[in-house]
Amino acid sequence: MTIPYYYPVLFNLEERRVVVVGGGEVATAKVEQLVPTGAAVFVISPETSPEIADLHKSGAVQWVPRRYRSGDLYGAYLVIAATDEPATNTAVYEEAEMRSIPVNSVDDIPHCSFIVPSIHRTGPMTIAISSGGAAPTAAVRARQAIADQFDDVYGEHLYFLNRYRERIKTTIPTFTARRDLWYRIVDSGIEKVFRVEGEDAAHDHIDALITQAEDEARVEAALEFIRGELSRADRPAMTISMQLGGMVLLHLVRSIEPDIPVIFVDTGYHFPETLRFLDEVARDWGLDLRIAAASETLEEHEAQRGLLHLTNTTACCALRKVLPAHRVLEDHDLWLSSVRRTQTENRNGFTAAHDFSLETGGMIRRASPLLDWPWEAVERYADTHGIPRHPLYDQGYTSIGCAPCTMPTFGAGDDRSGRWDGDRLECGINIGVAT
Ligand code: SF4
Repeated sequence: MTIPYYYPVLFNLEERRVVVVGGGEVATAKVEQLVPTGAAVFVISPETSPEIADLHKSGAVQWVPRRYRSGDLYGAYLVIAATDEPATNTAVYEEAEMRSIPVNSVDDIPHCSFIVPSIHRTGPMTIAISSGGAAPTAAVRARQAIADQFDDVYGEHLYFLNRYRERIKTTIPTFTARRDLWYRIVDSGIEKVFRVEGEDAAHDHIDALITQAEDEARVEAALEFIRGELSRADRPAMTISMQLGGMVLLHLVRSIEPDIPVIFVDTGYHFPETLRFLDEVARDWGLDLRIAAASETLEEHEAQRGLLHLTNTTACCALRKVLPAHRVLEDHDLWLSSVRRTQTENRNGFTAAHDFSLETGGMIRRASPLLDWPWEAVERYADTHGIPRHPLYDQGYTSIGCAPCTMPTFGAGDDRSGRWDGDRLECGINIGVAT
């Protein structure tokens, strides 16, 4: 007998009509395999086994208590001929073929358009083994041989993995990257961790792998975005306040454009630690540093206006920060900024790239490659790449601006709640001067 080269498929039979002709032992076995699939099972046979009768009573199958007759297969999705009468099985096969319905005639390969493999199930996994009809009992033994390896715990671990599919689909943008991550997960020993150390340990294990992949995807997206923006710009620049987000952005941008002009706004009120840190980074990284400063020296400013940061922080910021920064930005056509959505409610509404009106009158394209980065991703990137941190983070500061207007938060409130005693969250460089 020639063995066909079968094409294996897994049918979803839920609510689809499956007709089983026959009610004996073989038909019973088939019906019992079909019921858990949710198929609408119709049994056509003058008599049935007690098991089929019980399933009929419970409503799990419908029993038509008579012999098969032509037309019974109308509307069927799948047909099984399981009588002990070859002529009946042949008639069922011929009607099914005429209607193009897949049909299996038990133990009668020439009258089958499909055969049923030997099956091992664990959790959501189905392992189907077939000898192509050559030796079905050998297929059964092969199935039994692998059953121990793929036991119930293996199936539970598959359900566990399934819980991460949506997160991975959402955060890893390409099919190739998602596939690579899934191989990384299943090859990482996750099953053993689940089996030996339990679900919590397995969660930590898989969470670390997914986070790593998310970070890689985030960096790749940021680099692609920066490349695109730089390719369209003639005079790009970035601003930096020496906080960690800016340092991360600087590191990313310099991997593409090492000589990017870097604008630092010197208000005259910075912490000495900030200025020292700026000098160190500028020296060690060889920055093309551009200092933006007010036209008035600090002495002139205070002599003329007093301590404006105590009486009118909006005006002080406008004069010492916003206008100097925007004046220097007038010389550029692209402004790379490290603002992130999660920093303030206001920044949550920012777009990644858009035309921005400078307070000095001109327009510039502002691009924010880190806009959707959470703080933790900024920290992980910095740690991974050995990026130096402003020393004041270690003293409880979460956002670092001018010394008179910045307090440590020790992690309480949002990032910028230590600025201006919580009265304001923006100096105006990123949103324009508030009035
Ligand atoms: S942060 Fe304070 S000191 Fe600095 S410019 Fe604004 S108001 Fe003036």
